[in-house]
Amino acid sequence: MLLTVIRVALPVPLRQHFDYLLPSTMQVQVGCRVLVPFGKRQLIGIVWQLSPSLTFDHAQLKPVQEVIDNEPVLGETLRQLLSFAADYYHHPLGEVLTAALPALLREGRALNKVASMQYQLSESGFNASADKFKRSAKQLALWQALREGPQAETTLLAQHQRASLTQLLAKQLIRREEQPYQAYQYQGLKQPPLQLSADQALAVTAINQVQQQFRSFLLEGVTGSGKTEVYLQAITPLLQQGKQVLLIVPEIGLTPQTLARFEQRFAVPVLSWHSNQSDTERLACWQQTQSAAAAIVIGTRSALFLPFATLGLIIIDEEHDQSLKQQDGFRYHARDLAIKRASLERCPIVLGSATPSLESLYNCQQQRHMHLSLTERASGQAIPQYQLVDLKQQQLVHGLAGQTLTQIRKQLQLGMQVMLFLNRRGFAAALSCQECGWLTECKRCSAFTTYHKHSRQLVCHHCGATRPVPRQCGSCGSSRLAPVGQGTEQLEEQLQLMFPEVPLTRLDRDSTRRKGSLDQALEQINKHGPRIIIGTQMLAKGHHFPYVTLVVIVDVDGALYSSDFRAPEQLAQLLTQVSGRAGRGSHPGQVLLQTQYPEHALLQDLMQNGYGSFARSALLERQQTRLPPYQHLALFRAESLQSECCQQWLQQVADACSAFPQVQLLGPISSPMERRAGKYRWQLQLYASQRPQLHQALQQLLPQLAQWPLSRKLKWQLDVDAIDLN
Ligand code: ADP
Ligand code: ZN
Ligand code: ZN
Repeated sequence: MLLTVIRVALPVPLRQHFDYLLPSTMQVQVGCRVLVPFGKRQLIGIVWQLSPSLTFDHAQLKPVQEVIDNEPVLGETLRQLLSFAADYYHHPLGEVLTAALPALLREGRALNKVASMQYQLSESGFNASADKFKRSAKQLALWQALREGPQAETTLLAQHQRASLTQLLAKQLIRREEQPYQAYQYQGLKQPPLQLSADQALAVTAINQVQQQFRSFLLEGVTGSGKTEVYLQAITPLLQQGKQVLLIVPEIGLTPQTLARFEQRFAVPVLSWHSNQSDTERLACWQQTQSAAAAIVIGTRSALFLPFATLGLIIIDEEHDQSLKQQDGFRYHARDLAIKRASLERCPIVLGSATPSLESLYNCQQQRHMHLSLTERASGQAIPQYQLVDLKQQQLVHGLAGQTLTQIRKQLQLGMQVMLFLNRRGFAAALSCQECGWLTECKRCSAFTTYHKHSRQLVCHHCGATRPVPRQCGSCGSSRLAPVGQGTEQLEEQLQLMFPEVPLTRLDRDSTRRKGSLDQALEQINKHGPRIIIGTQMLAKGHHFPYVTLVVIVDVDGALYSSDFRAPEQLAQLLTQVSGRAGRGSHPGQVLLQTQYPEHALLQDLMQNGYGSFARSALLERQQTRLPPYQHLALFRAESLQSECCQQWLQQVADACSAFPQVQLLGPISSPMERRAGKYRWQLQLYASQRPQLHQALQQLLPQLAQWPLSRKLKWQLDVDAIDLN
């Protein structure tokens, strides 16, 4: 009897594939799901290869129990992408699959059965006349649309309200039927495009010149320069051809405006994809992408694994944003994998940002990306001017200098809005004893606990531990405890007292936790009239605030002297993005930056020459100091209740690395945050000037590590192209 062997990728944390026998009664294709025995369990895996060559007797292999799909859930391009990702990040393929597949597919839910709803006129609907809808223009429009022929629910909902559908159904004028998903139909623009500036037009033309081939662009456009308009116009011809577009954004929940702009422009299905969706919504999005029913998908990181049928363009908005890098488990960078995806799909990719990452600027210098720039604001307003406010020897009122307060007062009197940026949520960084200097610390982390006055708690922002506020000092017993290190909650309380008549909005994780509260806050801000807006880095997330004329950067001094080599880049990005919220409407903007260190080189460069200049000199510095992107970095992290255990294990890794002279080491060192959630944390940084050198080393190291007894006594991870060095 001829037996087929198949090689399967299983969702287990092991860096290997598994072989099974396929009984002759079964048939399967690569990319389909199968149910197989695994130890005492049964697992659902994906067929990765048919008839692999075997070096041993396959009589030992176990048979496949069930073939789940008739057709592959993962097509060839996606399989290539996932294999690439597993190799590149040295991560088990099974876990890569887990990140890429919707939960319901991993659980074995059938792919083919789910259908979309289609609507068509009933007999009485056909026979009805327009008079019937005299009192409802919306129902009339829907009825007229359906007179053209049956339509899918998703297409209809792009233009009509669900309520109209329900009403016509109730009147039995239309019928609803289950339909398999169908490719979307382009139906023109809902809203005329804007007249492009010369820079914008150049960018759109450059992107559109690329047809069915891979090409990567960096769109560097100052804040408010109209990058989104470039995206909208660049994708228009693609939609006309029935192509699909993927837009990846760092955090979809924080930018509801972006989704709205795409929906307002095109009469095609625009889908979103993010972690707050239910499993059912995610599966539906997966299916609509696979069948080309979705024209545009706007999603976070993992949207890059969606099974597009006919991908025409990928856009990564805010490509510099750190949240594009997954920080746990399978630590991939969505921008980098998206570039790989575009090359596999033979389609162009656009990376957009006002503050591009040094990596992307470097790739422009290496001519890997084509550089497109928008140097002027669409509104014609100048980029806001920075002014440094020297805090040395100043009497501060609630953390604000006299000069700052004068400016705030002035803008509010002019009826404008003022934004204050303070990157610390809660009331205070800690409580401190007035007698002995004791500070409230987290028992499980090397960090202070933030005082949240409103919820009357001490919260650790690193492990999430909460405690009631103590009445007495933990060291000397004194009851004189006072808040230190101003947070947004405190600033809000103080400004409210100083400006009792001015409406105030606070934007941070705490104030926007409730569903809908962010939308509500943004809506308030978009109303004309004086207002104070206080917020954390959430303010930097690409919002468009037309009435803000003054941005005050209350305190960033802590970030000026960080040991992390990426800190200057990140600070410059944050400052530029926050400042970019000023003067986006018809009024010019101004930025006040309060600091104890007005002479600091980074501040001086940013202030005088802007981000572009800062970034190019920072890149030069990275070259001189041999740091990424001039070197490639991989980071081993170890975590354990015993500090020595981490150090010992990383030393063992370091010793094993001596076999690779091309790889330079830094460490083992304890991580900047030495302890988190009770565990000690250490790291070892590996650098190499050629990527293959690093990868070869890792490839040989990992199987060795797996054998060491010590490896099982602690938690360790490998982070390729690590961004967060904490
Ligand atoms: P960015 O994404 O670069 O920060 P946006 O795309 O949000 O900028 O554009 C800023 C504002 O300028 C928006 O209100 C947008 O409608 C407007 N805008 C963009 N391009 C043009 C244009 N060519 N003509 C007029 N207004 C424009
Ligand atoms: Zn903690
Ligand atoms: Zn004390």
